Amino acid sequence: MSEMTPMMRQYLKIKEKHKDEILFFRLGDFYEMFFDDADIAARELELTLTGKDCGLEERAPMCGIPYHSCESYIARLLAKGYKVAICEQTEDPALAKGLVRREIVRVITPGTVIEGSMLDEAKNNFLASIYVSGNKAGICFADVSTGEAYVTLVESDDIATRINNENGRYMPSEAIINNECAALKGATAFLKEKINCTVNVFDDDRYDSSPEPLLKQFNKETLEEIGLEGKPETVMAMNALLSYLKDTQINGLERLDTIYYYSEEQYMRLDLSTRRNLELCETMRGREKRGTLLWVLDKTKTAMGKRLLRTWIEQPLLNCAEIVRRHNAVGELVSDSIMRADLADGLTGVYDLERLMTRIVYGSANARELRSLAQTAEKLPSIKERMAGVNSQLLKEIYAGIDPLQDVFKLIDDSIVEDPPALLKEGGIIKDGYNAEVDELREAMTNGHGFLAKIEAAEREKTGIKNLRIGYNRVFGYYIEVTKSNLSQVPDYYIRKQTLTNCERYITQELKELESRVLGAQERIKQLEFQLFDEVRKKVAEQLHRIQRTAKSLAKLDVLVSFAQTAVDNNYCCPDVSLDGKIIIKDGRHPVVEMMMKDTPFVPNDTLLDLDENRTAIITGPNMAGKSTYMRQVALIVLMSQIGSFVPASSAKLGIVDSIFTRVGASDDLASGQSTFMVEMSEVANILQNATRQSLLIFDEIGRGTSTFDGMSIARAVVEYVNDKKRLGAKTLFATHYHELTEMESMYDGIKNYNVAVKKHGDDITFLRRIIAGGADDSYGIEVAKLAGLPNSVISRSKEILKQLNAGQPVAVRRKKLAEVRPQEPAQVSFTNPTTDKIMSKLRTIDANTLSPIEALNILFELCKLAQDH
Ligand code: ATP
Repeated sequence: MSEMTPMMRQYLKIKEKHKDEILFFRLGDFYEMFFDDADIAARELELTLTGKDCGLEERAPMCGIPYHSCESYIARLLAKGYKVAICEQTEDPALAKGLVRREIVRVITPGTVIEGSMLDEAKNNFLASIYVSGNKAGICFADVSTGEAYVTLVESDDIATRINNENGRYMPSEAIINNECAALKGATAFLKEKINCTVNVFDDDRYDSSPEPLLKQFNKETLEEIGLEGKPETVMAMNALLSYLKDTQINGLERLDTIYYYSEEQYMRLDLSTRRNLELCETMRGREKRGTLLWVLDKTKTAMGKRLLRTWIEQPLLNCAEIVRRHNAVGELVSDSIMRADLADGLTGVYDLERLMTRIVYGSANARELRSLAQTAEKLPSIKERMAGVNSQLLKEIYAGIDPLQDVFKLIDDSIVEDPPALLKEGGIIKDGYNAEVDELREAMTNGHGFLAKIEAAEREKTGIKNLRIGYNRVFGYYIEVTKSNLSQVPDYYIRKQTLTNCERYITQELKELESRVLGAQERIKQLEFQLFDEVRKKVAEQLHRIQRTAKSLAKLDVLVSFAQTAVDNNYCCPDVSLDGKIIIKDGRHPVVEMMMKDTPFVPNDTLLDLDENRTAIITGPNMAGKSTYMRQVALIVLMSQIGSFVPASSAKLGIVDSIFTRVGASDDLASGQSTFMVEMSEVANILQNATRQSLLIFDEIGRGTSTFDGMSIARAVVEYVNDKKRLGAKTLFATHYHELTEMESMYDGIKNYNVAVKKHGDDITFLRRIIAGGADDSYGIEVAKLAGLPNSVISRSKEILKQLNAGQPVAVRRKKLAEVRPQEPAQVSFTNPTTDKIMSKLRTIDANTLSPIEALNILFELCKLAQDH
């Protein structure tokens, strides 16, 4: 029986412990994958599947990738939800006695990536950990690539919705959940299907309720703020996250030393469908940035600013003072255009300090990355100087938070060459003059090369061989090469090493001595340069907190400058924020639609909503008139104000809203088995259950996916519910084509009718895009259908039916006009009609072989008669 090779035994032993991951097994310059991993990798990465003799009867399926280009392959596997375990050779193969030792050095999963090439610089990459017990859930999110961590405790009878809201806010790429969370209806499906997150379910024995591991990891003050006492769910969630991170064997986990507690009450509540409906960071159709609020507001210059802007958009504030602080800072930057331009200039070219620091602390940054840090540090004094004398509190704080980091700049600038190589172990990194030994070794090497030239000249002289030359190869080191025609002149002390077709190669004692000096210096210098580089890297790593604080300050500055620039470019105003619950907007515009419209001007509109007489606005008007645009514009203006931005209006008084809920458009959710109408109703149910009096609700036509009366009844009951102060009384914009609902204005307090004005000329209409008081007289659906290009016959028939319906008559069968009567199609033979039955039975009695011609003619005559009589 054949026996397995030792290498394959080693492979299987390692694989045994990493069944969930694709194992990248290092063999020389390649990472190889075997068996099922090879099948998966070959399929997903389009690699050629080969086989390897492993001592068994069948060859093991195998495929591989070159080690130096592994990152792009790993990134592709992670994007498809796989995890990768990296197994390295952990001893020098040249020194190994027998099989080279191999070990797992890192497990890379979607939520634990730190490599820049596998990350989107404009987005955080969060790993979530959720522990559910009854109606409570401890939830934490950590981005190991930037060192940020957040934790919260939520409590609700509808715990799945709350968890989904938090996940919708942070959009983790990977999550660890306990069994109870996995069993919650809707929570796992939300993670997997709605936000494309890889889910790991941990058994209960992997949850530790002891605060010890947390005390070791996080700094005390932040833990005190969280208050671990009496919050076992948060402790369990955080511990599970740490234990998972430890499993991945990332070095330098100390980077993650600060964790912030946040409560849901700090941020505006937005469920995922509202985030998507309002197209905050990606469009509904193409999931693109262009056409979103983020696209309009993003004039940031740095990756840190881009990520923070996204975070701010995803987390509008509720604290009035905090919002005003942001507005004041933007205001100052709006009014000082020179400072704004100078700061934008200063921020251009600032590197991603957060992710650079992560790689520096984790010990994976190369010399180029250190140089990028130095380049950024070099820019800091002028940025800081430019901010001296700022007035607003937030800008003052940012000013204080920027550390010029000149010591860090000097350390890197003194030690590392300006354009270092990407590889760390090949030398060429350390500047001349930084370290005496490096200088000496370099000298020895240069001299050595000088000596070689001298030896070459001397040997030519001595031997008289004019084309004698000194060369180098890895096998023999330095050698003297003599062409065949000159062999007779070769002296005795030359030792022959190699014979080639045209020449012979020799060594001499002198050459050997020089070689060991030069090569020794080369080896030593490589080692020494790496060691010095590593020392510099560690010294920089020690400055983590100063650099991190500076990074955070720069990110904030970048976003505020971006808000200010957008405000100036797009003519926004500073909103007046209050807690009085009123929304009064003059000349409001939709921030995105106005930017997308090139040929026609956007028509501004006013808004008045409050908690008393103007709670519910019922908006009617033709299709395409601009109802949806208007309602979204109100929601976006409120949201923009609460993230600290100025708003597209000539003036705005905005009472803070605690949540925005939208019910917009119709879409099937076939993945979760819900029809269009079911999706619509679930969304309405969610709004009615979770909205509060301080919410802003947007309903864009409800009840349309069912029969008219059912739909209208539901719509009316929903308006009654949301408008009723005892039940909800929230500010609501309600667009509908059920004109019957406009009678509610006179029946209930707090309801006001609005419509979008149109001008009618005969059969045609012009949209005026103005929102005016009162109900619309008509939906003009047929006119809009005509604009959309429905055939004239359908349009005129629609009008006919509408007339009959309006007159309360039953709809009559369509009367055919002569011109419309189509020529009759030739009737198809049916084998069930009585005439054909007779013909068929007659035919069945005939034996065609025995018929005479005259009989045949008679039968044909008879059949024709039968057919004609019909
Ligand atoms: P439907 O009832 O069919 O959903 P609607 O009344 O909701 O239609 P919208 O989708 O809001 O209409 O608007 C249709 C188009 O009208 C928009 O895509 C936009 O191009 C244009 N529009 C809307 N509002 C304005 C405005 N205030 N100024 C200029 N153009 C506008």
